[in-house]
Amino acid sequence: MTRTKIATVWLDGCSGCHMSFLDIDGALLDLASRIDLVYSPLVDRKDFPDSVDITLIEGAVSSEDDLAKIRKVRAHTRTLVSFGDCAVTGNVPALRNGVGAESVLRRVYLEPDLHTAQAPNLVVPKLLNVVKPVHAVVPVDVFIPGCPPSAKTILYTLTELLEGRTPDLSDRTRFGA
Ligand code: SF4
Repeated sequence: MTRTKIATVWLDGCSGCHMSFLDIDGALLDLASRIDLVYSPLVDRKDFPDSVDITLIEGAVSSEDDLAKIRKVRAHTRTLVSFGDCAVTGNVPALRNGVGAESVLRRVYLEPDLHTAQAPNLVVPKLLNVVKPVHAVVPVDVFIPGCPPSAKTILYTLTELLEGRTPDLSDRTRFGA
């Protein structure tokens, strides 16, 4: 039997959606018998694989690094799932959109009374001025609202996708659930 290749990706989110994924508990063992988790914060792999069946994206697109990553993920994924409210709407990371990236960096790094105050400009990815939900940057196939979506909802979604069906999430979750 061919095993389905699944990836999970963490953009600008709090990891709560990944924690909810782990809350599937015992069903993870059943899932593990049907899938290969080929890329995720939960496994030690640095490069995104060439061909992935299903990718769950947690978090909004907030930095140039996020933008490059989501474009690469989209190019190598058959079914892309926007996983949680940050990915679906921008949610918490997008709260800064009203003031812009420069203003946030100034307030956090430059205005405090520090002798060495400076905004990060090395190693830390450059912030985009506007935080965007994933579908504003690349096409998305499935949306799972929730902050975070419940383990039950995540398991239902993955089970449906593994069976080749499009999950109907209309009465299973909601924004902020
Ligand atoms: S949707 Fe909620 S739980 Fe998920 S990454 Fe965003 S803030 Fe965290």
